[in-house]
Amino acid sequence: MAMAKPREMGDHWVPMGCHLLVIEDLFLEREGRLILRGVNLAVEEGEIHAILGANGTGKSTLAYAIMGLAGYRPNKGRILFAGEDITEKSVTERAKLGITLAWQQPASFEGLTIREYLEISKRAGRGYLRIEDCLALVGLPPKNYLDRTLNDRLSGGERKRVELAAVLAMAPRLAILDEPDSGIDVLSLDDIMEVIRRMNRGGTTVLLITHREEFARVAHRASHLCGGRILKTGECAEVVQFYKNFCKECTHINEPELEKTEEKG
Ligand code: ADP
Ligand code: MG
Repeated sequence: MAMAKPREMGDHWVPMGCHLLVIEDLFLEREGRLILRGVNLAVEEGEIHAILGANGTGKSTLAYAIMGLAGYRPNKGRILFAGEDITEKSVTERAKLGITLAWQQPASFEGLTIREYLEISKRAGRGYLRIEDCLALVGLPPKNYLDRTLNDRLSGGERKRVELAAVLAMAPRLAILDEPDSGIDVLSLDDIMEVIRRMNRGGTTVLLITHREEFARVAHRASHLCGGRILKTGECAEVVQFYKNFCKECTHINEPELEKTEEKG
């Protein structure tokens, strides 16, 4: 299939209206390498929006930039949340506005019981689910887990599931889920999608970051990230098709074609 130049596929973003999260022309450099190269994205309040992209295309970098983690301050561009410019705000300020990133469990929770952690999470947000139900939804029997401590005796997969339960308990305004299936043992993709649906029904807008197109089944809309740019936003089926055509045999991860087209002018 003949492909239009990526440059012409860009700019598929919608101007701000009832958008919860708007990213405008975001550039971000890490250790001298330009990783985000003009990201434009608009996420509507209430939607599950999938960001689809192959490995190494800048998905996690984008997630960290939205959360405002140290070292991820953009070189250019703006991030707006509920109409407010948050580009210069700290992680804590962003968290207070209702943005949560999984996986980013702060070290300060270490040593708390899972019950305490989930209760704190619930109080920090707008959650109405019982913490027991949150645990059960991520496949952890509450009676076995509520009184366990958050420490290194939990497996990586258990920690991730506890963190997913905490997002459910909190019901933040925006949840950024970075590869929610990675390292989660036991739970199937369908289980995780059900958790995401529950989260969304509880009023959380979800930014679902993944390289797996199967996740598009749970999303309302999707965007395709390649080479640090959103090349397409739209209906999931359309974006998945584009991702499959364009990325399955991609030879330019981190060296996007658009650089070439720009050079050629
Ligand atoms: P993804 O999550 O889509 O797999 P990342 O956002 O983790 O991609 O990384 C995007 C690109 O940036 C990759 O090529 C990665 O190697 C590079 N990268 C990530 N962190 C750094 C860093 N601290 N310094 C330099 N390059 C980095
Ligand atoms: Mg990643």
